[in-house]
Formats: sequence, structure tokens, C-alpha cells
Amino acid sequence: MSPALVISLLLTGVVQPLDTTRRVHDFAGVIPADEGRQLEALCQEVEQQTTAQVAIVTVPSLDGVTVEEYATELFKEWGIGKRDVNNGILLLVAPNERRIRIEVGYGLEPLLTDGLCGEIRDQAILPAFRQLDYAGGIRAGADRIVDVLRANPQAAKGYPGSGPYLLSTVRQEALVAIGVAIAAAILLIVVSLFAAARRKFSTWYFVAAAFAVVVIWGIAVSLTLRLQPARRPWVWLGSAGALVAGSMWQHWRKYRRYGPRGCSKCGTPFELLGEQADDEHLNEVQRLEEKIGSVDYDVWYCPACLHADTEAYINYFSNFSRCPKCQYRTFKEGPQQTIRAATTLTSGLARVEGRCVHCNHKTLREIVLPRLAVVSSGGSSGSSFGSSSFGGGSSSSGGGSSFGGGSSGGGGASGSW
Ligand SMILES: [Zn+2]
Ligand SMILES: [Zn+2]
Ligand SMILES: [Zn+2]
Repeated sequence: MSPALVISLLLTGVVQPLDTTRRVHDFAGVIPADEGRQLEALCQEVEQQTTAQVAIVTVPSLDGVTVEEYATELFKEWGIGKRDVNNGILLLVAPNERRIRIEVGYGLEPLLTDGLCGEIRDQAILPAFRQLDYAGGIRAGADRIVDVLRANPQAAKGYPGSGPYLLSTVRQEALVAIGVAIAAAILLIVVSLFAAARRKFSTWYFVAAAFAVVVIWGIAVSLTLRLQPARRPWVWLGSAGALVAGSMWQHWRKYRRYGPRGCSKCGTPFELLGEQADDEHLNEVQRLEEKIGSVDYDVWYCPACLHADTEAYINYFSNFSRCPKCQYRTFKEGPQQTIRAATTLTSGLARVEGRCVHCNHKTLREIVLPRLAVVSSGGSSGSSFGSSSFGGGSSSSGGGSSFGGGSSGGGGASGSW
């Protein structure tokens, strides 16, 4: 909804119905009071019979937007129709602009087709409007709409079954499928980490997990593609896709590291030695690297030919890096010590000391600190965060008489006279 339209709707008091239990809102003042009461009774009656919500609204001005745009926004803002089935109809009349719109919710589009709405407009409403008989035209149009609803009570309920009104349901399904895909991806990460910690990873498990993730992801994509292009939750699908791809990649890495393999000499299945048992196959410095956490060594041992392969996995998050002298990852630099602070006139100097915990090799590095930039101290000293509250926007659930739907997609008919 455009901000300008929201503001103008707010100003004219049209943005929310004054009374959500009422179905007729004559903001333009063209319906006589007794006619209004009869129309209200008609709408209430058909709603009790079929649950379909018919709203009749007249406005003094369209605030510079098209009648289609105005109707769609009003429909959405008020949430006309029952939630999930979107069986609402809005008859919007702008007498001053001589514009009319019959806006039909998704749930009723198979019943009140564009063609039928056009017929109701041309045969029932516009002839009376041309005589400037607004109440009569509205009444005739409402009668025709109500007749159609009463003659098709099942379709008037907007029950999910067929037709474009399933879009909201399909959208929900797609979001649920995407949610499940995200959950599966997170589960995959957790299980991978668990399997890695226990150093167990079977091929069967890897294939089963990959298959399950691909199936779930496929369901999420297909449900999303069933939606109209404009309504596809791309952001959700995209984040789910990134998460699924990321966790599959992580899964693949764990499998490559811990998955079963054969001896490089004789082909007998290798055994991965535990952290205690592998120490006898490592030298003193390698054990030191494992102890300080800079490198993790895996030792694969062949029970048949007693051959052992050692693999090094560098921990890039460790504080230790490669020593320039002994080449082991046992070198660490200390914090930066400032010798001379930088000013706006002169540059400063700092020193960083490094030492290898294995060979005791020491390094000294000097860093020139750049001159401080002259900053004009303006008034921008700390901005406070304004407390922002979430605006409601959620329509009340369709408890008997309030609006709850509001999903329409250009179905209906509009015209002028
Ligand atoms: Zn072997
Ligand atoms: Zn180890
Ligand atoms: Zn060293």
C-alpha cells in the first residue's frame, strides 16, 4: 500500500471500519437511513446463511488513486471475508468520481467471475446510477450478488477445493514446507557435529540424510512454484536454500573426513584411532599442536598390514599460526603495544611481539600508526534509539462477525458512468 494512500485513508477515517460488525459503510452519504438498514440486514442475513461477507462502501473521494487500487487496498486493510477462505466481496462506490468497483476475494473468484461481476454492474447497478439513484443501484447490485451466493451456498463458503482461492492455503503450505526444510538443515548440522565429535560417519547414514534433505527441499520448491509469481516467498525460499546448501556442504566435509575408507596400502577398511590412541603415532610437536588446539591430527590405522596414515586438519580459528622458523603451527603474537601514540601532527608507533611455544623463536614487528584525522566535532554526539513499537496490522480472527480475510487479486469488475 502506498504511504500516501494510507495517510489519506487515515485522514478520511476509512482505514478501519468504525464498527467491524457492520457491513454497510456509507462514507459518501448517498444511502438513505432506512435503505441502509435494509442493506445491512441483507448482508448480515446472507453471511449467516453462507458465511460469505458482503461489504458495501461509498467514499466521498478516491484520493487520487484508481478505483481498482482503492478497492484492493480497502479489501486488504479491512480483511473482508473469512480468514483462509477469503470469501468476501466489496462493492465500492465513489459517486463524485463516478467510479464503481466490485472486488471479489480469492475464495469467491470461481463463483463470482469477472464476467458475472461485469454483468451485475452493467445490468443492475449502472442503469440506476445514470439516473443518480445510488441507493437503488447499490440495492439492485447487492440483491444480484446475494442471489448468486444463496444459490451456491457451498461455493459461497469459499471452501478449499479448487480454483485460485487456494492461493492463500498454498502459500501457507509453501511456508510450512520451507520451514521444515530449514529445520531439516539445522538438524543436519547438529547431527553432523555430533557424528564428528564421536568420529563416526557411515555411508548409509550419509546417503539417507542427503536423500531426505533433497526430498524436503524439492517439496518446498514445488509448493512455492505453485503460487502466482508475485506471491512466491522468494526470500524464505532463498534463505532456506542457502541454509540447506550450507548444511549439505558441512555434511559433505564431515563425511569426507570421518566417512569410511580403505587402507592406502592393502585396501582393508581403515580404523580411525581415538584421541588417546593416536598420540603414539604423532611426534612431540604434533601432540603439542593438538594440545594448544592449532591442528587436529587424525590417524587412520590398518588392522591388517598395520599401516597408519596421518592427516592434519588446521584450526583456522586458533590464535596460533605457522612459525617462520620451525614451520609448526605453534607461533603466537601478543597484543599490540603502543610506543608512541599518533597525534594530528605526527604518526605513532606500536610494537607486536611474537613467540613460538615449540622452538622459542621470537619476532618483533613495528607498526606505524597513521596520523589522526582532524574531525570537526559537530552536533552528532550519540544518537538515541527511538522506541519503535510494532503496529498491529493483523486482522482479528473471524469470530462470527468481524472481517478476517482480505485476500483478493484483481478479481471482480469496475466501471464508470
Ligand atoms: Zn593395510
Ligand atoms: Zn588427534
Ligand atoms: Zn617454531
